[in-house]
Formats: sequence, structure tokens, C-alpha cells
Amino acid sequence: MKLESQIEARVGGELLRWADRQKIDLYYLKLNINNFKGWPDRILMWPDREVLFVEFKRPGEVPSKLQAHVHKLIRHLGFEVRVYDDAEIAVREIQDTIITSARAGTRNGVDYPRPRVAPVSPPRSGQDKYRVKSVPDFKKERASRQAPSDSTTEGDND
Ligand SMILES: [Mg+2]
Repeated sequence: MKLESQIEARVGGELLRWADRQKIDLYYLKLNINNFKGWPDRILMWPDREVLFVEFKRPGEVPSKLQAHVHKLIRHLGFEVRVYDDAEIAVREIQDTIITSARAGTRNGVDYPRPRVAPVSPPRSGQDKYRVKSVPDFKKERASRQAPSDSTTEGDND
């Protein structure tokens, strides 16, 4: 029997390789929330404000009561949560969703003005396979900005 983590890793690998080929900036981020249990395993984000939460289960397993409750909260806010216990189905359905959203340019069937922002490519080096390490270290950045102008500590390791 496949472990949940194996399904989660396979889906991430296949989706990210596919997104690279399609030149779609897709993020497949692990949600590590310390003080609020029951959150889905992953949050996926791609351009045009598209967000999808995904909970993975081992084959045949269903979400716990707490997870089902959190899914309700997330859906109440208007976000989508999906539960998958099969990697192939997950990859296929998520790809379909991304392709459809890119074509339609809509969210929940409602047109919105596309944000006029310069495209930003995610860093290609130094990232782990889920790109979690490619998220900039804002704390460090802020600290270096606040440092006095004559400071020579910038770039030092701490
Ligand atoms: Mg899970």
C-alpha cells in the first residue's frame, strides 16, 4: 500500500516538471502550521491569484473530523480544497484545473482584470524539489535594510 507521503511527493514531482515544461510558475508548498491543526498538506499557487489546497490521504482513507472541519472553513472563505488518495488522478485533475484557469482568466466564473505585474521567474537554483527554499528570507532582508548605512555587517553570517 502506498504511503500518503509517497503520493504527495509523486504528485509534486510530476506537477512541477509539467509546469516547468509549460512555463507556468507553480508553487507546491508544504503547509507547516504550528498552532492550527487540521490544515491541508499543501497549498498550490499559480499566476492570476489561483490557489488550491490539497489534502493527501493513503488509498481509501478519508479526512479526519478535524480536517473536514478545516476544509469547511477554507471553503467558506471561497477557496477550493481537494482530497486525493491517488497520485495519477490528482496530477490529471490539477493539470486540468490549471489549464482551464489559464484559458478562462476567470475565478469562480467571474471575470476580473488581470493584474499588470512584471513576470517573475522563480529561482531555478538552490531550491528543493518543492521550491520551499526558493522563498526569499524576508526577515533577513528587512534586517539588512534597517541596518545603519555605514554598517559593514551586511552579508555576514549570523
Ligand atoms: Mg494528509
